[in-house]
Amino acid sequence: MGDRVGAAVVWDPALLGYDLGGDHPFNPVRLELTMRLSRALGVLDGVEPVAPEPAGDAEIGRVHRPDYVAAVREAPMASWDVGHGLGTSDNPVFDQMHAASALVVGGSLAAARCIAEGRADRAVNLAGGLHHAMPDRAAGFCVYNDCAVAISWLLDNGFDRIAYLDVDVHHGDGVQTVFSDDPRVLTVSLHQHPATLWPGTGSVTELGGPGAQGTSVNVPLSPGTKDAEWLRAFHATVPSLLGAFRPQVLVTQCGVDTHVEDPLADLALTVDGHREIYRTLRDLAEQYTDGKWLVMGGGGYELLRVVPRSWTHLLATVLDRDIPVETSVPVDWATTVRKLSPDVVLPSVMGDGVDVAFQRWGGGREQPVDTVIRDVRRAVFPLHGLDPDDPRD
Ligand SMILES: [Zn+2]
Repeated sequence: MGDRVGAAVVWDPALLGYDLGGDHPFNPVRLELTMRLSRALGVLDGVEPVAPEPAGDAEIGRVHRPDYVAAVREAPMASWDVGHGLGTSDNPVFDQMHAASALVVGGSLAAARCIAEGRADRAVNLAGGLHHAMPDRAAGFCVYNDCAVAISWLLDNGFDRIAYLDVDVHHGDGVQTVFSDDPRVLTVSLHQHPATLWPGTGSVTELGGPGAQGTSVNVPLSPGTKDAEWLRAFHATVPSLLGAFRPQVLVTQCGVDTHVEDPLADLALTVDGHREIYRTLRDLAEQYTDGKWLVMGGGGYELLRVVPRSWTHLLATVLDRDIPVETSVPVDWATTVRKLSPDVVLPSVMGDGVDVAFQRWGGGREQPVDTVIRDVRRAVFPLHGLDPDDPRD
C-alpha cells in the first residue's frame, strides 16, 4: 500500500441549485441538512471543502449527445416541448438547469481529479450520483450522468480498470448503459427487483455487450429485503468479482433510498445498515484498489429523518471519523429541522437501533435471498473464472 494522502470532500452551497422545484422528492434540503448535521457532530472539523467548477461541454460530451446538451440549455427559455425526457413530472425544467447540472458533474470530476492527481485517496461528492441520466435524455431526476462522466475521465487519466458499485435502491441503468460494451469498467448494481420498481431494468441476465460479457452485474432484491439479507447478497457476490477484476479505483454510488422509511421504494434497510455498507465499501477499497475510493451520493427521499443521518455516516466513514450509532442527534440540528417541518418526529440518535449482524452465504439455499445469490453467481462468476457454487470464490 502507498502512503495515505487523506480524503477530499467536494462541497459548495451552489450545489443546492440542482433543485427540481415544488414538492419534487429530489429536494436539495437533504444535502443542506446533511452538511449541517456533519458539522454539528464535528465530522468536518479541519476539512477544507473542494469547491467545484461547472463541467464544460467537452467533459459533459464524454457521455451526452450535443443535441441533448443543447436541449437542456434551451429548455428553461423554450415555450415548446424540447423532448429528451425534459419537462416531465420526474424531470421538470428549472431555471439554470444546465448550469446547476454541469456543476454537479464538475463536483464528481473534481473528486476524480483529486484521486488521479494523488491529492487524496478518497473523494466524495454527495451532490453527485445521478446514475439514471442517459446519453440522449434525462431520466429519474437525473439530467447529466456525473458518475459516467467521472469514470470516462478517469479512463483517460491513468486508470484502465474501474469498478463501479451502485447501492441505490434503483438500478444504475445509465452508468450500465454507457459502459456495457467497455471491458475496462465493471458495473455492479444491487437494487430492488425490476418487476417491482422503476426503471424496470437490472435483471440478472443483463451481463454486458459481446466484448464485455460479465462486466455488467445486477443483483435484484425482493421488496422487504432487510440489512442482513442485503449484506449477505453483497458479500456473496461483490468481493469475489473485485478480486477477479482487479480494479484500480472503486467508484460508488451511495443512494440511501433503500431505507425502510423511504417513500419511493420498498426495501427495508436501516441507517445502521447503511453505515455498515459504507464501512464495507471502505474495506473493499483498502483491499482491492489501494484505498482509492470515489464516492457519490444518489437517491434518498426521507429527507429529514434518514438522509442526513445516513450521509453523515458516509462522510464520517470517508474521513475515518466513524460515528457510533448510539451518538445523540445534536439539539441545534434538530431545532433547525423543526423550523422547516414543525410536526416532524426526529430520531434521537444516529442509528435506528437494529443489529446489522448477518450470516454469510455458505453455498446452499437456506434463505430466500440465496436464490438470487445463486442466479447471479451462476450467470456472472464463470465469465470471471470463478466457481459459482464454491462459497470460497
Ligand atoms: Zn434511487
